Amino acid sequence: MRRGSPSKGFLVLGEIRSGCLHSATLELTSKARLLADNLGIEVSTLLMYSEIDTEPETLVHYGADRVLCVRDDRLSLFDQEVHSKILCRIIEEIDPEMVLAPATTSGRTIMPAVAAMLGTGLTADCTELEIDPDTGLLLQTRPAIGGNIMATIKTPERRPQMATVRPRTFAIPAPNPDRRGRVTAMTFTDQCFESRIKPLGHERFQEDDVNIQDRDIIVSGGKGMKKEDKFSLLRELAGLLDGGVGASRAAVDNKWIGYSHQVGLSGKVVAPKVYFAVGISGSVQHLAGMQTAELVVAINKDPEAPIFRVADIGLCGDLFDIVPRVIEGIRAREGVSG
Ligand SMILES: Cc1cc2nc3c(=O)[nH]c(=O)nc-3n(C[C@H](O)[C@H](O)[C@H](O)COP(=O)(O)OP(=O)(O)OC[C@H]3O[C@@H](n4cnc5c(N)ncnc54)[C@H](O)[C@@H]3O)c2cc1C
Repeated sequence: MRRGSPSKGFLVLGEIRSGCLHSATLELTSKARLLADNLGIEVSTLLMYSEIDTEPETLVHYGADRVLCVRDDRLSLFDQEVHSKILCRIIEEIDPEMVLAPATTSGRTIMPAVAAMLGTGLTADCTELEIDPDTGLLLQTRPAIGGNIMATIKTPERRPQMATVRPRTFAIPAPNPDRRGRVTAMTFTDQCFESRIKPLGHERFQEDDVNIQDRDIIVSGGKGMKKEDKFSLLRELAGLLDGGVGASRAAVDNKWIGYSHQVGLSGKVVAPKVYFAVGISGSVQHLAGMQTAELVVAINKDPEAPIFRVADIGLCGDLFDIVPRVIEGIRAREGVSG
């Protein structure tokens, strides 16, 4: 296997939202650590923020050799131009072999701009990353052709090798408080903070307050729900189980529920303990977002529906008959009145 120069390591683009470190930063830092150990190279994680709720050293416990901190009040609101320029400067300075970012809205916005500025390639929305044992290249795997095949992409010539990874793709290992690394503060000229974007204000999108990716139980509805107001059944069930409500793209396209609830290839990847698929057929694109759930309960009137192939518990019948009975059963067991 080709060994890398320690300085030509991994750079992970960290993400901080409203001062909170996004879990995808821990996920990608620990994945980069595993891959970097194959090559004997370093992992650096970059944080750009105005305020943060976590000590940057925490990332060392998850595998970073160094944490690069760019703290500036002008970073309080996400600005693609500014964030891209800073990432670009850092890449030029530390010359990483590989750059990883979460496939969140900001990662998906910054990384293509930076790849274009640097004249290199980018594989977006990866679901697996490995190191090629012969060449030491990053093997970047992602669904292609509408999710029907998995394509593994390499970047043999251009540098750095760049990929975004869908949050919750990799498990986050337990932190190792004994790991040692360094935290480096970096400063940039005013010119880096110049932008054509003039923010007028910042308003939090209510639906994002409940991120289904953080829920242990998700009750998702599909086209079988028939109407927007029928989603109240799923909200009731989810509420009883302290879960969140998800949806197929068909339900979102019908405007029965907002996009932030969509599960699947072009929505969110979720890995809850229990996933209810209600009136969802189980297309490959939907499965791409939920197949790592620990337990899948499918409710569908079509015994041939593909969702039953991945379901641990399959209830075949009319959802408008089954879901109220499930709700009733939970209420009776828990002594909750309706
Ligand atoms: C590039 C691309 C990206 C995509 N991304 C996504 C994505 O992120 N997420 C996603 O979900 N899809 C995605 N899709 C769309 C996907 O191909 C399917 O069209 C979609 O998942 C179908 O949604 P559905 O299962 O709700 O609807 P349908 O396939 O129409 O299934 C409805 C199901 O409800 C059942 N049903 C109907 N009435 C009842 C009843 N009364 N009781 C019980 N069961 C009932 C039916 O038997 C059927 O199985 C994508 C497609 C493409 C091409």
